Formats: sequence, C-alpha cells, structure tokens
Amino acid sequence: MSSLLITGGRVIDPASGGDGLADVLIRDGRIEAIGSGLADSEATRFDATGAIVAPGFIDMHVHLREPGIEHAETIETGARAAAAGGFTSICCMPNTLPVNDSATVTSYIVQRAREVACVNVFPIGAITKGSLGDELAAIGSMREAGIVAISDDGRPVMNARVMRRAMELAVTFDIPVIDHCEDLNLSAGGDMHEGRTSVRLGLRGIPSASEDVMVARDLLLAELTGARFHVAHLSTLRSVEMVAFAKSRGLKVSCEVTPHHFAITDEELATYDSNYKMKPPLRCRHDADAVIEGIVSGVVDAIATDHAPHPGSEKMQEFERCPFGITGLETALGLSLAELVHKGRISLMRLVELFTTGPANILKLDCGTLAVGAPADVTIFDLSREWTYDVQQSYSKSRNSPFHGRRFRGGPLATVAGGKIVWNFQDKNRE
Ligand SMILES: [Zn+2]
Repeated sequence: MSSLLITGGRVIDPASGGDGLADVLIRDGRIEAIGSGLADSEATRFDATGAIVAPGFIDMHVHLREPGIEHAETIETGARAAAAGGFTSICCMPNTLPVNDSATVTSYIVQRAREVACVNVFPIGAITKGSLGDELAAIGSMREAGIVAISDDGRPVMNARVMRRAMELAVTFDIPVIDHCEDLNLSAGGDMHEGRTSVRLGLRGIPSASEDVMVARDLLLAELTGARFHVAHLSTLRSVEMVAFAKSRGLKVSCEVTPHHFAITDEELATYDSNYKMKPPLRCRHDADAVIEGIVSGVVDAIATDHAPHPGSEKMQEFERCPFGITGLETALGLSLAELVHKGRISLMRLVELFTTGPANILKLDCGTLAVGAPADVTIFDLSREWTYDVQQSYSKSRNSPFHGRRFRGGPLATVAGGKIVWNFQDKNRE
C-alpha cells in the first residue's frame, strides 16, 4: 500500500531514549524502519533536514463540542486544529450536548471521528450522569464503547462519596479518573485568580485554595481506593507540592499542566479581555513558577491544552458574563518551546516526553512512540522558524485565543497520522 520516507531529521523518541539523525520509513500505517540511508523507491518523501522528528503528540484534554454545540467546534474542525498544532491524538472531554455519559454517545463520537477526523480521537466518558455529580454514569458500557478515562471536566465531582465509588469502579475497568479540581463553594462568583491583581482590577477572585482542597481530597481518595488518579490542568504551587508528595508515597497519581498556566499570569487580565478568562484562572507569578518547577523536576507528567472553543458571540459579552475557556491546540508547541526549551529550563527529550509518553502512559495508549511496528503517528517540528499566530487563520471554528499576534520561534512543520501527512506547513504557505 502507501509508504512515506522522512529523511534527515533529528529523531527523538523518549520511549527508547533515542536521539540522533535518522530516516523514518512508514508503510501501511505503521513504523517500518528507523535508521540511516533508508530507501524505498515507491515512497512519498519528506525532507526533514534540520527538523525534529518525534512520535505524534497526544493532547489528553480537548473539548470538541460535538455532539450538540457544533457552532463552537466539530470533531472535524477540532481534529484539523489539532493536526495544525502537531497533535496526532486528542482526547475529548464529555461535556457535550448530550453529555457523553452513555455508550450511545461514546459510540457516536468514535464513529463520527472515524468518518471525519484527520487525527485519532479518544473519548473520555463522564463520571456522573449528565456530569451533575449525583449518580454514576454507565462507566462499564462506555468503556466497552471506547472511552480511555472518566471525568466530569468543566465541573468537579463535589460529593466525596460519589468520587470514591467512581474511583472504585475505575479500578475495576482499569481506567484513570481525571478530576477538574475546584471547590465550587470556594470559587463561586469568581472571574479571575484571587490576589493582588484581582483587588486592583475590582474583579471577583477564585483562590488557589479552591483547587488545592479538591486536589487534597482526591489524593486521599486515591490512596483509599488504589485508583489511578489524574489532576487536570493543575495550576497552583500547593497542588504541585501535594502531587509530588503523593507520588513519593507510591500513589498512582499523575497531572497535566496547560501552556497558558506556565506562559502567562493574572497580570494579563488588566486589559479585561475575556480571552484571558478560563478555569482554573491564570494564576500569579509564584504559582506559574511552581508549575514550571514541577515540569522541570518531573512531577508534571503531561502538557495538555484544555482547548475550549467558544464562538465570538459568547466571548464578546461583558467580562463577568463571558464563559470560561480558550482555544489552545495551535499554540501549545510554540508556547512550550518559548517558555521551557528556549529559556533552557528543560531538554528537547523532556519536552517531547510531556507530549507523548507522558500522556500515553497515563491513558495506556499504544501510541506516543516511534518503535518499529507502532502506529505511524509522527510530529515534525523545528526550533528556529519565526512565525506569528493569526487566529483568523485558525482551523478551529472558534477564535477565543489570547495569543493572536504573538511571535513564535519554532513550531510544527508537518503532522503524520496513521502514515498520512494530515497537515503540512508548506501547503498552508502555498494557499
Ligand atoms: Zn476543567
């Protein structure tokens, strides 16, 4: 069938620890060989000289809005934005309409993704029916239909007894429980991080403690049940410390951070631009620094975008009325390079790990590696090309990014999913 030969790139594969110049030969959707001087006269060629060739990036936290909210995003457009950001696999959160709390909705997403998505889509099922926090969702049948984790993301599970039962079931079905850690009573009415800046701007605050108390509770429940527990979009100093402590105690705990939580802080809210409004809110400098320290020290397992598209009509309202959330698929790699690699904080190997083996291990996915025989998902990116993010050119249906107009150095060059080039910077430039 079809083959693709990627030549001359610097191949970085955290799964094997490999880092060196090599060609990558792909045949029939699988990695066929890696080595120097590979040849295949039939193959399409991609010259990756001067670029990094990595396993396909995985974003374990994306909102695709289909079914039900297709004016904000669809599985097709979200997948295209993912490909443009260098992602070959995305996990979609269940807060659609209806909520993905049954095998019917899970099957719909799986089927629809097969038809229209240019990258792999792995659904995450709800923990509770309608994500209302009371009754457990049909976790077993969703698992059979293809979910890779459970979460009520967008909301926490406030009832500790319900969370305990969910964790016990998750052990049975061998899936992680992902919590959006927020105590709704503590955060109620808040629009931004509570601190000096919120006081100065006169906006209502969401204290770091609203995240911390929920992380603490969930870690205790994870210890009680033995569940694999994952903190979504971790954003505070204390949460980093508690996850580190839990890991040192041998708990099966993991966490992700978003690029916006380490790249920018609550100071940005001074413009009252609703594209800086999200949950958890942009924190102050010392929380952002702690998140970066967690990345450097190894406490953080994955970078995830929390891509949360909202149409302009909703984000144009006055600040207090705007929904929370920003898009993020197309800027994640550029921001991570800028804040983590170009500033000398982490190695390229560590960066690639945060986007590949990190999330793959949490979710037990068979992707995230360039091992011979693995699915041919490859992300090719560079470190030097200067480019400017233009949100009007986004593949997403929504435009709610705070990074419009931002200059980047390095970013995705081509994205290969299932052995096919699904996005190519060169093509986009020719358009
Ligand atoms: Zn969330």
